[in-house]
Amino acid sequence: MLLTISTTHAPATDLGYLLHKNPQRLHSQTLSFGTAHVFYPDARNDLCTAALMLEIDPVGLVRKKGPNEGFALEQYVNDRPYVASSFLSVALGQVFRTAMSGRSKDRQDLADSAVPYEIHLPALPSRGGEGLLARLFGPLGYEVTATRLALDEAFPAWGGSACYDVRLRITARLGDVLRHLYVLIPVLDADKHYWVGDDEVEKLLQKGEGWLDSHPERELVARRYLKNLRGLAEVVMERLSDGEAVPDPVRQDGQEETLEKAINLNRQRMEWVVAALKRLGAKSVVDMGCGEGRLLGLLSKDLEFEKITGCDVSVRALEIARARLNFDRLPEFQQQRIQLLQSALTYRDKRLAGYDAATVIEVVEHLEPERLDAFARAVFEHAKPLHAIVTTPNAEYNALFPNLPAGKFRHPDHRFEWTRAEFEAWADSVAERFGYTVTFEAVGTVHETLGAATQAAIFTKGDKQ
Ligand code: SAH
Repeated sequence: MLLTISTTHAPATDLGYLLHKNPQRLHSQTLSFGTAHVFYPDARNDLCTAALMLEIDPVGLVRKKGPNEGFALEQYVNDRPYVASSFLSVALGQVFRTAMSGRSKDRQDLADSAVPYEIHLPALPSRGGEGLLARLFGPLGYEVTATRLALDEAFPAWGGSACYDVRLRITARLGDVLRHLYVLIPVLDADKHYWVGDDEVEKLLQKGEGWLDSHPERELVARRYLKNLRGLAEVVMERLSDGEAVPDPVRQDGQEETLEKAINLNRQRMEWVVAALKRLGAKSVVDMGCGEGRLLGLLSKDLEFEKITGCDVSVRALEIARARLNFDRLPEFQQQRIQLLQSALTYRDKRLAGYDAATVIEVVEHLEPERLDAFARAVFEHAKPLHAIVTTPNAEYNALFPNLPAGKFRHPDHRFEWTRAEFEAWADSVAERFGYTVTFEAVGTVHETLGAATQAAIFTKGDKQ
């Protein structure tokens, strides 16, 4: 695969200083998935072109993957060696690392200046066609020319491929151009990136600094860059928009989120929980079924909470929580304050004992009714927090969601949704059985007859006075 960068800004050969690659020589670098070569087809005063050619080792790639991915021959016969994909991004990031950061040893002034560049990508897949190319590069100021490539020139009847011969023209700083390409090439390709991990969130935010937050397609960029990992993409959106969650419109399982979006119930609920914990004077909190760590994020910002633990049965949810908390980058005292545990709430777990408060936010309705007893014992007999806050949807309120047919739950994974009377009966019997007192509160705007969207029970250890 190939990418060329040209400039006509005289002396054009200064491009060599910006890229830290001498135009007189061939540069080769071994990468984990192949070899990158940089050379200059043109190196004149009025035109200089640097070419990055990447030789991918498709067999080597196969060896790194797990078994049974894709169909048998796809492992060996695929387009990865030929089209611009995430591999090209990784290569750009490694071969032109300094240039991408905007630094230049010998020509810092030039690195800081907007200079005319033309980028040529002879085979760039765009899943989303020419329109997507324009939507991604247009808002950044690029002039885009794209010609669709045939699937096979020998068989015109087969029609066009997903690949385009693309030229991008812009007057900008080279570091910015390289960072745009780094992020947008894999977004266009939208294939699997073998390299998506937690630190990809950091990479995306870092490479997107200064342009992604104001890009009209930032949601699509985040989602595709992160391989459609919805959770991680949401983390990026939240961090880009400074804490305000932006729901993903293509979310498949997002019924509940869309329903509740209008009133931003989740945020309201979490803020209510934090306030309730403060009222209770809780210093140590275990968030049971912490999911993707929304509550943990709020708690971590408030130093009144000295020890914060999140537990969930889902490893993926915990990974997302970790990314949301930016855990790996936290200072040491914060890392010691916060811990994430995998645990199932229907089994006793000593690690969850001894907390001032346990929060169980929108979790009980995900449990099978016959497991509720095991859950109650795990929380109130074994973990035995001083206080427990349990929230769950109020089924009566569902009548107010215009898109929710009668009798349906807010989320496909809910096993039940309780009316206020049902919830209160369950909570009263649990309190009675394990020696707690319980009070009930409505969370959110209260409807005259139907109550609020969320109902909460606050349990406190000790007998009734
Ligand atoms: N409290 C979070 C997440 C609610 S979604 C919030 O309000 O945002 C319900 C969560 O409960 C999911 O993350 C799911 O993985 C977790 N969960 C479901 N059954 C569980 C069990 N038996 N033990 C622990 N966690 C469970």
